Amino acid sequence: MNTAETKRQRSIAVVGAGIVGAATALALAAEGHAVTVIDRGEVGAATSFGNAGGIVGGAVTPTATPGVIRSIPSYLFDRNGAAVLRPAYVFQALPWLARFIAAGRPARVAAIAAALHPLVSSAMHAHQALAGLSDALGFIKLVGWLKVYGSEAAFSKTALERELMTRHGINFSILDAGEIADLEPKLNKDAYHCGLFQPDSGFVNYPMRLAQAYFNGALLRGARYIQQNVQEIKPLNDGGISVRTEQATHRFDSVVIATGAWSKQFATQLGDQVSLDTERGYHISLALTDGPLLTRPVGFPEKDCVLSPMHDGITVVSGDELAGLTAAPDFRRIRALMPFVNSVLPGTRLQTVQREWMGHRPSTPDSLPVIGRSARCKNVFYAFGHGHLGLTLSAITAQLIAGMVGGRAEPFDLTPYRINRF
Ligand SMILES: Cc1cc2nc3c(=O)[nH]c(=O)nc-3n(C[C@H](O)[C@H](O)[C@H](O)COP(=O)(O)OP(=O)(O)OC[C@H]3O[C@@H](n4cnc5c(N)ncnc54)[C@H](O)[C@@H]3O)c2cc1C
Repeated sequence: MNTAETKRQRSIAVVGAGIVGAATALALAAEGHAVTVIDRGEVGAATSFGNAGGIVGGAVTPTATPGVIRSIPSYLFDRNGAAVLRPAYVFQALPWLARFIAAGRPARVAAIAAALHPLVSSAMHAHQALAGLSDALGFIKLVGWLKVYGSEAAFSKTALERELMTRHGINFSILDAGEIADLEPKLNKDAYHCGLFQPDSGFVNYPMRLAQAYFNGALLRGARYIQQNVQEIKPLNDGGISVRTEQATHRFDSVVIATGAWSKQFATQLGDQVSLDTERGYHISLALTDGPLLTRPVGFPEKDCVLSPMHDGITVVSGDELAGLTAAPDFRRIRALMPFVNSVLPGTRLQTVQREWMGHRPSTPDSLPVIGRSARCKNVFYAFGHGHLGLTLSAITAQLIAGMVGGRAEPFDLTPYRINRF
């Protein structure tokens, strides 16, 4: 039997059909594997539905940075802050928060940035490769990632971010007010003093459609879909893996776990320890009126919000809430941002709210995803924990997993992403 035949007969389940699972299913199906995608819901309809659409190639700065410990009280007590720790969730969040604070030490930040760099810098190429396999090239626009600041004092807080980007050779520029106006003429000129621009970043104005395109690319290559709720994943004596859903038990040669913020239960079942929580994020979508108001996402770091020109109107994205997987959403903070949104982008005053949404970022405390084999079971692969960067990193994650399954040499050191770092 030749290698191609061996590969074709390898059955692989990808559990979870968010952007990470859909991309991974396509990368595996394109290599001839017999792929089964299992998800309890619709493809791309969970967290991957409502993000800001950025493929941010310069995102080497982790969420926790030096001094993060001083912000923790504001997570609890600042009624207007975008980062929130719900009092009822404090006890459960403590182990994750302790690791998060530790990840903000200067030496750790430097190491994490170095580990993020090979992933984020490969992100656009990896998406273009998968998009080329799935008729989705037109879904990804190279329009860059823009953040604007209202004052010099606010801009000075980006010193670490600029230092890390410079260290890792990220292409970025500092824009004055005139240059911002040239890029985004419909922004209120009083809304900014200067900006940071990463021209090599991409934008997807309909993230769920990209996930569905990747998934359809996998279907065209023979993948099948099972819409069922997975309850248990466990190794079998013959080396295979069983996936038990509410309806049936299925057997596969290998399994990829790509269930985003819901992945910890499966790692625990398999005997792997992981520190994973969810940083819940919100959006308010404003219905389209006349013409486009923006060409690209624009971030306002002082308000912790991004305005993205999505396919169905401007989406206001904000929030970073530690409250677990099951608590009801609380839209008060993002709603309170609307006067600010109307002032910085006056065209939104005429737009009506068509949707309020909350999603669950799958977040590790060190801002690095979990990509790699289970420490306990060699035929189980993890692809979760992408936090704020799941759209950005989905395609490179898919390529790395396909490389591991195919037994190829690692393109760069993958040890920072292994599960047994926790
Ligand atoms: C407000 C906001 C803005 C963001 N902006 C950006 C951005 O601009 N750029 C960027 O790169 N990232 C961004 N992100 C992060 C990004 O959206 C996430 O990291 C990414 O969507 C995670 O994808 P995923 O496939 O891992 O998870 P998900 O999309 O959540 O998919 C997980 C899937 O697993 C399935 N599942 C779970 N449990 C089970 C089970 N037991 N059985 C069967 N199926 C199951 C779910 O149904 C779901 O379909 C943002 C996130 C938020 C919330």
